[in-house]
Amino acid sequence: MIYAGIDIGGTRIKMGLLQGQELIDCITMNVVNQLSLSENLSLIAENLNNLLESNNQSGNLGGIGIALPCIVDSEQGKILSDYAKFADARSIDLESWARVNWNVSLIMENDARAALIGEVAFGAAKNCRFAVMMTLGTGIGSAVLIDGKLLRGKHFLAGNLGGHMSINYLGKSCNCGDTGCVESEASTWALPAIVRNHSLFSESSMSSENKLDYESLFRNADNGDPLAVELSQNSLEAWSATLRNLIYAYDPEKVIISGGIVGSDNRVLNYFKLKAQHASWLPPNAVEIVLAEQPEWAGVSGAAYLIQSKA
Ligand SMILES: [Zn+2]
Repeated sequence: MIYAGIDIGGTRIKMGLLQGQELIDCITMNVVNQLSLSENLSLIAENLNNLLESNNQSGNLGGIGIALPCIVDSEQGKILSDYAKFADARSIDLESWARVNWNVSLIMENDARAALIGEVAFGAAKNCRFAVMMTLGTGIGSAVLIDGKLLRGKHFLAGNLGGHMSINYLGKSCNCGDTGCVESEASTWALPAIVRNHSLFSESSMSSENKLDYESLFRNADNGDPLAVELSQNSLEAWSATLRNLIYAYDPEKVIISGGIVGSDNRVLNYFKLKAQHASWLPPNAVEIVLAEQPEWAGVSGAAYLIQSKA
């Protein structure tokens, strides 16, 4: 039997086939923004059928795991939070989609939790029983494994809202309605406004950048631009405060760091390692801070693993 993992992101949909311990083939397709989720699902079905066929696995599908960028009830198989991109998301019955198309069962999970499971099953957190994942991308995501099990909580929120932990109650307004969340203080979506509103912006080398993101911020900081130096230091402190909050809340043996901001730059990982050494309630070297081993495919392998291990 083979198991399919599908990871639906903001702009791309990734899918792959898991056989035993190995992801044997993967493909990526674009989300078609003009179409509803149900119309996108028809395209996903077409692509999955092609993937199965090209691997001579048609008729051999044992189940589907699907990772979604929203709050999901993984027990009832329901999307709980509004999914900004697709108005029809809450009304979609993914389980019947899988039954009608392939006569297999489907499980759904939040994408950060699926990625953590992918790293636990096949990647940087192999054999861990207590792990936290922190993803620094457009927003900031998190997921938690306690005693070998995903932490979900009463309302499927537990461990997922690391990006909306408030680190400054006098801080900036967040898109969630709260104040001083780490996302509104330091994330890729918040950064352009933070840079432009800074008093040094007009005299900063950042003002001639086409893209105000962490790549340009870190680069300008390395060149000594005072605004970039100050804001990159602020961001490292904001993320470290969140890391410490997550460590104190969930007491992991390992923290896996992922996401576009950390992918090509060691400064975040090194800063986190330094800060974790000085978390006063921890025994020395109690928590290992590591980069994700499969930053691109952990959501796919994790989603597929969840259905494989349930089958
Ligand atoms: Zn927030």
